[in-house]
Amino acid sequence: MTLGYDVLVALPPKAVLADGTSVRPVPAWSPISSTLIHGERDAILVDAPHTAEKAREVAGWVADSGKNLVAMYATHGHGDHWFGFAEVAKRFPGTPVLGTAGTVALAEYQATARMDFWKSQFPGQIVENVVVPSVIDDHAFALEGHEVRFVEAGDSDTQDTTFVHVPDLGLVVAGDIVYNGVHPFLAGGDEQRRRDWIAAIDQIAALKPTAVVAGHKAPGGDDDPRHLDRTREYLRDAEELRAIARNAKEFADLMTLRHLGRINPAILAQSAEHLFPGTTAA
Ligand SMILES: [Zn+2]
Repeated sequence: MTLGYDVLVALPPKAVLADGTSVRPVPAWSPISSTLIHGERDAILVDAPHTAEKAREVAGWVADSGKNLVAMYATHGHGDHWFGFAEVAKRFPGTPVLGTAGTVALAEYQATARMDFWKSQFPGQIVENVVVPSVIDDHAFALEGHEVRFVEAGDSDTQDTTFVHVPDLGLVVAGDIVYNGVHPFLAGGDEQRRRDWIAAIDQIAALKPTAVVAGHKAPGGDDDPRHLDRTREYLRDAEELRAIARNAKEFADLMTLRHLGRINPAILAQSAEHLFPGTTAA
């Protein structure tokens, strides 16, 4: 077997201001997965985190693999999945940074109008001189003769998300369509988007992958395809409990009880306050 993959989970950086105070509770962010799909010589990197320190860890990890990096691919436009490519590019100059047209459109917004948000959440920590991905010419890529497919799956936790499918490995790198051991981010859209999200999960499930890498996963988490079902279940629970709860706090409490194993309750609080505007989860 000449084809393989490895995952590096970047632990969340603390959001700390220059004066030492924290701007949000710890953990400040969910852990972020970077995946290296590799043949004997060449490799493709999928996603890289947004803070310089974590991105440098990914760059060192790719360099240590000894592989020749032939492409970097962003699963979607959120900055925490691609800002880090600029750090990796310092080690691998000239390697193309790629995404779909939908990813690139959101990435351009993240790199401009949205950059103040990122810098306010992670003062002094965001990667400098980010490189917005270029639109892919082709949705299939040959890695030493093995097909790597970039598949558009519509909306999930944000607009125009995609996943990477490597049929010869039975592998799907799912970006934010799948969460593993971490509360999914529901504050990025409405009910229609959550329905589309389930459709995206179904689209992956139909490929019958044997390994599914979640874009956000708790450290030590496996890549079992059951995380497709677990994420779908979470979304269905959210719809069910949204109809029962009277405010954000009740919703967050009910979801917590059903999903005790998931980390980063700060994300659940954001979701709850999005679903119950004008009420607080605290
Ligand atoms: Zn994400």
